Amino acid sequence: EAKAKGKNTFHFYSKELDAAANERLYIENELRIGIKEKQFHLHYQPQVDCRTNRIVGYEALIRWTHPDEGNIPPVKFIPIAEATGLIVEIGAWVLEEACQFANRMLKLGRAANISINLSARQFKDAQLIETLADILKRTQLPAEYLHLELTESMLMGDVKAAINQLHQIKELGVALSIDDFGTGYSSLSYLKRFPVDILKVDRSFVKDIPEDLNDMEITAAIIAMAQKLNLKVVAEGVETKAQMEFLQRNNCYIVQGYYYSAPVAEQDLSLVEDKLAGD
Ligand code: C2E
Ligand code: MG
Ligand code: MG
Ligand code: MG
Repeated sequence: EAKAKGKNTFHFYSKELDAAANERLYIENELRIGIKEKQFHLHYQPQVDCRTNRIVGYEALIRWTHPDEGNIPPVKFIPIAEATGLIVEIGAWVLEEACQFANRMLKLGRAANISINLSARQFKDAQLIETLADILKRTQLPAEYLHLELTESMLMGDVKAAINQLHQIKELGVALSIDDFGTGYSSLSYLKRFPVDILKVDRSFVKDIPEDLNDMEITAAIIAMAQKLNLKVVAEGVETKAQMEFLQRNNCYIVQGYYYSAPVAEQDLSLVEDKLAGD
């Protein structure tokens, strides 16, 4: 009886695993096709100075419109692209596309800072520095407009190698930010050793402001610490006026979130700009 039960249990789990493995395989195959057939595009989420209501930069976020499945969100395919190594090719495309965008904005006299998410695989890629130098040269974007977002977990492990890689990126003139700050290892002693410029306060701390007093204290502490370490600070996931006002009161002025704008296509950014100017 016990054996029969065990068998059933195994059968159940194996079916679940099969389904998950099949989906991964399906997405992996579709990713390869998607790259060839150019099914990806970028959206841009404005980063706004809450004191002036002006856009100061953008985060580039990849979008995948699959011919049968419609929009597949990054959380569903980025980890698979990462595990298979396809992220290196996709990521190089994101970098080039976003740098071209930033250069168009620069030529129009508009805010041109562009933040781009880097995956662990891209960061560890020996070719990264060459790829970056190449893209900056081809797109003619002055390096200081390019900001690369990394996460804490990408910097742990071989800390010495990570610091070395960060220095090489900085030598190109590119700025570095730590994304989703506070959700990873966040070893303060390491933070001081990493040559980074910007901390992005994770949305999980912002989302329950002003109800959650704990989150408010943590957010205020992260902002204060960033200032002590001479880092700029950006808050992500700002959805309400109360959240924006709390951040402003606590000296965090660059904010990003649905309160100002969702990520949008390039052609819709002037609409957002006009709306912000009218407020
Ligand atoms: P992330 O870098 O932390 O990006 C912020 C995510 O929060 C984006 O989700 C954005 O659309 C969403 N968001 C922005 N404001 C708000 C808000 O006010 N409320 C809420 N609820 N959400 C908000 P998205 O575009 O689905 O991207 C998810 C994650 O996928 C990103 O998190 C990033 O880790 C990854 N990702 C996106 N594009 C790329 C890319 O080009 N390359 C790599 N390597 N990763 C990417
Ligand atoms: Mg990001
Ligand atoms: Mg983030
Ligand atoms: Mg986040």
